[in-house]
Formats: sequence, structure tokens, C-alpha cells
Amino acid sequence: MFDNLLRPHIKKLQAYASARDEYQGNTGIFLDANENAIGSATYEAYNRYPDPQQKLLKQKIATIKKVKPENIFLGNGSDEAIDLLIRAFCEAQEDAIAILPPTYGMYEVSATINAVKVYQIPLTQLFQIDLEKLKTYFDKVKIIFICSPNNPTGNTIAEPDILYILEHFEGIVLLDEAYVDFCADKSWLSRLDKYPRLVIIQTFSKAWGMAALRLGMAFAHTELIAILNKIKSPYNINILTQNLALEALDNEAKMQEMVKVTIQQRELLKEKLKEIAYIEDVYPSEANFLLVKMKNPQEVFAYLLSKKIITRDRSKVAERAIRISIGTETENIALLQALRDYDNSLHHNKKV
Ligand SMILES: *Cc1c(COP(=O)(O)O)cnc(C)c1O
Repeated sequence: MFDNLLRPHIKKLQAYASARDEYQGNTGIFLDANENAIGSATYEAYNRYPDPQQKLLKQKIATIKKVKPENIFLGNGSDEAIDLLIRAFCEAQEDAIAILPPTYGMYEVSATINAVKVYQIPLTQLFQIDLEKLKTYFDKVKIIFICSPNNPTGNTIAEPDILYILEHFEGIVLLDEAYVDFCADKSWLSRLDKYPRLVIIQTFSKAWGMAALRLGMAFAHTELIAILNKIKSPYNINILTQNLALEALDNEAKMQEMVKVTIQQRELLKEKLKEIAYIEDVYPSEANFLLVKMKNPQEVFAYLLSKKIITRDRSKVAERAIRISIGTETENIALLQALRDYDNSLHHNKKV
């Protein structure tokens, strides 16, 4: 199904068959993988290679997400899925991808590392897709990257635009749903069956609160997932991550509760930010951050930094804006206080 899109050498590639791929039983005398049979230099034993296909974890994710395990790829962060997708479909020095800036930086970085050309089709003033312009690139690119809710703007991308692309573009559509849990709109996961060239990525790094573990998910047609599995490194998800993710999935309620608190804090912070004089705009956000437009973003960023409050200066990609992640209630209060102090210092300086 993906033969005419795939790079020819990937099509021909025979995947590495790991020891644990060849024998899948749990019991026996394992003399197949050159592991240390005695134990580990740690208190707990980690001497055996983990399941290369993460079967238990995929089974559980499949149940929660209402897809089949064969529709799931797990990566060392969703960044791994982004990279593998480019490596599977884009020939170096020859193929291209399209990105819609301002957006997540890894699409361009991954493409550039792989010597794949990047066309930038900027979002409109309202941070929506410039469909007329994007259409003119349909026959020039292999993958279109759409991020919804978009990082760093925080808004969702209009559904009809995504539909149009899915129905008219003949390449791969990567829909990045890293922030979907914070969003009122539903995930596109339920429509996976309808669009075989749609790849949806989600992550354990944001709503699930497990960024340190590095675990990302890609959902797609079984044949496309098989391609990603063929080219991934064999044991890409370590056993600690697999086990902790299994544990976390039993605790979806905690994730939902954290999401709820984050959204409450986001809306509160947004209202309070709007009261500050030098802040020009707080963009609508369906994610766990706010993009804030102000008169002097670089100075504010530096001021906050001097108070050990670290935000993200996005003024080079989004006009006069810094991106602020939603913190705990206490952290958000400290942020607001610092921003008000800065405001006061402005007035004070004017008077002197
Ligand atoms: C944070 C983020 C990710 C997640 O990356 P991981 O590698 O899974 O931590 C993916 N896409 C976007 C847009 C993000 O902001």
C-alpha cells in the first residue's frame, strides 16, 4: 500500500531479527542474547533485554485508545516516530516535507538532519492553515506535518482543513496530537481506519507527566506501523519505561485530574495576564501553555530569567511572543507577581 511512497531501499530492507524476536517464550534457559546470566550491577536485575515489540504495553494502550495493537508504534519519545517517518519516506537530497510555522521545531530539525528539504507554509494571522498555498505543494512533498493543538500557538487547526488535506494530498499526513488531552476537540484516532496515510502521534510527556521516561506513540495503518517497526532500533523502549507506563495506564484518573487542574490554572492565568498593561494579547490555548504577546518580549523574558522563572522566548517565530507553560498554582502566582513587578518598574522608570 505504501510501496510507491517508500524509499526503495527501505522497501527491500530485511529487518534485524533480534534474539527476543526469534524466541518469544517467557521461560527457559536463555543462552541466545549474550546477556549476563548472573545478574546486574544494580540492586534489581535488569540483565535481560526488554520486549522489542512492547506487546503488553501496546495491548493496554490499544484498549484505552480503542485501536488495535497493530496500529501502534512506540518510540523513545514521539520524536523517534517523527524521525523514523522521515527516514522511511524521504530520500535525502531529493524529497521534501511541508511544515506550517510557527510550529514544533523537531519536524524541521529531523528533516534537515536527514538532508530532506523543508517547505515552510506559514499559518495565517489566526494561526490556521493557508490551504490555497499549501495545495500548491501537494505534489512536491512526501509528508505534511500538522500540529493540533499547535505548539507554540496553542490553538487547534480547523477540522475541514485537515479533512481537505487527508482527502486530496497523496502523501503522508502527520498529525501531532501531543496536547490533545488538554483540548476540547476529540482526537482523530477514531478516524484512523478511514485515512490510511494518516499518522497520529501522541506522547506520555505532557498530560501523563512522564517526560523523563521518553515514551511516544504513533498510530497509523498496520502496514505503516510495520514499516516503522522494521526500521526502529530493536530494543528502543527500555524495561523501566515499559513497566512504569503500564503502571501509569492503570492510573488514567490521575492523568485526567492533572489535566483538569492544568486547564483551570490556564484559564485563570490567562485572565490575570490580560490585566497587565504591557501584555497585548494572550492567545486562546487548548494546550498546557499560553502564548503571550507583549510590547517587549525579550526584556520580559530576561527579567523573568533573572528571577529564576524560565519561559520560552518565541519572538523570533511568533510576533513579540513568549510561551509560558502552565505551572502549579504557586508557580503561576509567582510568575504573575514577577510580571506585575516588571510592569511597576516600567512606570517607575518613566517617572524618573
Ligand atoms: C512536547 C511535544 C512532543 C513530544 O515529544 P516527546 O519526544 O514525546 O517528548 C511532540 N510534539 C509536540 C508538538 C510537542 O510539543
